[in-house]
Amino acid sequence: MQPQPSSATRRHVPVAVLLPVVLVLALAIVALLGFVVWSTTNIDQRSLERQKDSIARVLQFRRSQIEVQATSVAVWDETLINTKLAFNANWIERNLSSRMHENFGYDALVVVDASNKPLYAMVDGFAVVIPDTGAAHEPFQSLLSDLRTLRTAPGPLGTRQVPATITDFLVIDGRPAMVTASTIVSDTGALRQQPGSEYALVLTRFLDTTVAAEINRQYVIDGGHFTMVGATTADQAVFPVVNNAGRFITFFQWNLDRPGQTVLNQTIPMLGLTFLVIGGLVMLLLNQLRRYAEALEAGKHFSRYQASHDELTGLPNRSSFEFELRRRVDMRGQCTGDTYLLMLDLDRFKQVNDTLGHQAGDELICAVADRLKAVLGKDALIARLGGDEFGIVVSHTDGPFDVQQASQRIISAIGQSFELRHYKAHVGASIGIVVIDRNSEDVAPSELMRKADIALYEAKAGGRNRAMVYEEHMNEMLQLQHTIEGELREALQRDDQLSVVFQPLVSQESRRVVGAEALSRWAHPKFGQISPGRFIPVAENTGLIEALGEFVLRRACELGATAPGRTIAVNISPTQLRNPQFSHLVFDILHRSGMRPNDLELEITESILLDDEHVSSQNLRTFRTAGIKIALDDFGTGYSSLSYLKRYPVDRIKIDRSFVNQLAEGHDSVAITRAIVTLAHAMDLEVTAEGVETEDQASILAQMGCNMLQGFLFSSGVPRERIVDIFADPANALVSRGSRAIRAISR
Ligand code: C2E
Ligand code: MG
Ligand code: MG
Repeated sequence: MQPQPSSATRRHVPVAVLLPVVLVLALAIVALLGFVVWSTTNIDQRSLERQKDSIARVLQFRRSQIEVQATSVAVWDETLINTKLAFNANWIERNLSSRMHENFGYDALVVVDASNKPLYAMVDGFAVVIPDTGAAHEPFQSLLSDLRTLRTAPGPLGTRQVPATITDFLVIDGRPAMVTASTIVSDTGALRQQPGSEYALVLTRFLDTTVAAEINRQYVIDGGHFTMVGATTADQAVFPVVNNAGRFITFFQWNLDRPGQTVLNQTIPMLGLTFLVIGGLVMLLLNQLRRYAEALEAGKHFSRYQASHDELTGLPNRSSFEFELRRRVDMRGQCTGDTYLLMLDLDRFKQVNDTLGHQAGDELICAVADRLKAVLGKDALIARLGGDEFGIVVSHTDGPFDVQQASQRIISAIGQSFELRHYKAHVGASIGIVVIDRNSEDVAPSELMRKADIALYEAKAGGRNRAMVYEEHMNEMLQLQHTIEGELREALQRDDQLSVVFQPLVSQESRRVVGAEALSRWAHPKFGQISPGRFIPVAENTGLIEALGEFVLRRACELGATAPGRTIAVNISPTQLRNPQFSHLVFDILHRSGMRPNDLELEITESILLDDEHVSSQNLRTFRTAGIKIALDDFGTGYSSLSYLKRYPVDRIKIDRSFVNQLAEGHDSVAITRAIVTLAHAMDLEVTAEGVETEDQASILAQMGCNMLQGFLFSSGVPRERIVDIFADPANALVSRGSRAIRAISR
């Protein structure tokens, strides 16, 4: 079960990232737009100034042009003759009026005498009648009087004379106009005049649409025109036209050339598009960033989960179990009841793993986890501490809680067979319990777990499939365990601690003692009797089993030599069997003791069948060839496959006492035991039932056709002298069906 990121995590937007990115983007857009607008406005401003400057130059140029054109006819002997010396209206009309009107577009031409009285006037190409007033048109008067203040330079004879000329902007009949007045003088200097007596020529050009069109065409100005009510707008600019006295005459108004605005208009769509693309890219980037952040968050979440959970079962692992245990221990004062720490270890799990494969082992572990959850409910803390080891903490606050009962429920739940994908498996459970009193002193989780481990060890040593509550004396036993090796080593050097007892093997049919199994005993001077269940594993792990096994075999063979025809069974550990020298040792002992090989039965355990050792099978074959019998001990506790027996042929199987002690009417184990017996007989194997304690068990086994019985019902292990007596005594050798006789044998 993988953890999913919570919805809060999924919605999580990295604001710390988003905000600066959006701000930077917005600032960049604003700055760029600001810069573009500022620079285009700047360009437009400069352009406006340039345009105004141009208009001023245009008007100035027009003024100088009108002066040049006026003087081109005013400084001319012909003009002087035909105006002042011999006034000739026709000549004026032909040479001045039509020329000025048609060639240069002047609207009006007036010739005045020295007293500024009009002598001739042309308006729009036609000569007009001069009013009788004798004075020049009012707007011209001040211009002419200004002209008269200027001196005409007569200049030397034979040279062109310089006329007095004045140009100004006037409003004539409400229309703005550009007017120039110039005295009429000789161009050759031949016709001399009295200063102040010069006639003058007045030329007028109204500032109308025609002039504006000329200016527009000539200077590439858009929509330029003269207006009296001009105003500057966003698109239009005005230039005030003022006269020489600085008075306003008219406005020249034109459509602004705004290069900046044009650039802006062309740039804005591109800029918009660019911003859109950048915005899109940034959004993409942010989205990627968000996904990355989410993935990171989910990764962290997953790592945290992985670090604290077992990958296979999804249960908390050892480190989070210890953490939670600490927390619950700290809070124990708030509970109304005690808190319990349970350490659970599967029995026979290794066999499942070794024989059915790791996949089946994994499936089994998951199934065990499910059963634990089903039995204990959601309040219990269940963790997988490793391999086939589980840790459980139960704090029961409501009502009394019987931890032993709960443990039994766990043991029986796990004791039910497991239907795996391809196989059916059968395991057991041993449990070590520590009671954490709510008033107890502070205890470290590691110490609690150590104690639970000790209780678990006791449960296993006590025969598995059981629960043991930790008690202080167990700790001492554990300490003893550490010293067992040293003590055993010493015991093997002496002859006063180790001994061998013999448990009778009884024929089911005749109820006669037909042999005995040799079992080692260790009476320690300080710790008293130490059970083989405790010291045999230490001996096996340390290699001391070879010396111990030899000791037991010698004693067994010594007995066997004295009781020919009786089967003497000796337990052999896998370590011994793997030794290539072992068969030599056995034959040597048989030879020295004088025991018949046919009377010796070697008991091996199922684990030997699993390890495909060449030496072991070679040894077994050698023994069988020599007539030594082989018994498969504790049958049913391991994988129990009779098919293995083809590889390692044996003569007998010994059904484990865990089956026998469950034999009762209607119980599953009856069917299992019967099946084992039937199968074994079909394979031509003898069957011994171990651990027979009651007459009922004996009679059920008898019905099944079990060949031999062994158990406390008949006798426990007895010293050599006692078994010799039993063998020798014909009355005791025949065990009657009555319980009295049975007790007699055991005494
Ligand atoms: P095992 O070979 O299956 O021996 C039978 C065990 O069952 C003995 O325990 C015996 O005392 C016990 N037993 C017999 N009848 C009954 C009964 O009716 N009820 C109950 N509850 N138990 C019964 P023990 O002597 O404690 O030995 C335990 C195991 O230690 C033996 O199991 C055997 O596997 C091992 N063992 C003992 N001596 C030796 C030895 O010299 N060499 C080796 N390799 N293993 C030994
Ligand atoms: Mg045995
Ligand atoms: Mg046994």
